[in-house]
Parts: sequence; C-alpha cells; structure tokens
Amino acid sequence: MEVIRRVEKEVQCPWCANTVVPQVRVFRNDHGDIKERRCPECNKILAAYLDEKRPVLKKVRTFEG
Ligand SMILES: [Zn+2]
Repeated sequence: MEVIRRVEKEVQCPWCANTVVPQVRVFRNDHGDIKERRCPECNKILAAYLDEKRPVLKKVRTFEG
C-alpha cells in the first residue's frame, strides 16, 4: 500500500488514543480532490476534506438542457 508521507504533526487519535502521525491520502471524486487523514494504528479516518486549490463555485456544473 502506498502512503503519501508528509510532514504531519503528531496527533492523538480519538479512536485508539495513540499518539500518531496521520497517514495522508489524496483521491479524487466528483467534487474534487479529497484529502484524507487516517490513523496508522487503528486505520480509522481522522479527517477528510476537500483539497481546494481552486474556487469550488466555479466548478459547479448544471445538468439542465
Ligand atoms: Zn487510532
């Protein structure tokens, strides 16, 4: 499994209470790039959010007509 390792701050995992450096993965869905942080100990998601590099509103498409 490939994991992007960046300089991440150690955090305390709310799931397993270990102090861990989150594993960061970026993947794409319909809305853009999603950045996901996961605990390497218990493999649960700590956070996931849009990796906004451009204004989101400009990406909105309409499917009418
Ligand atoms: Zn954990």
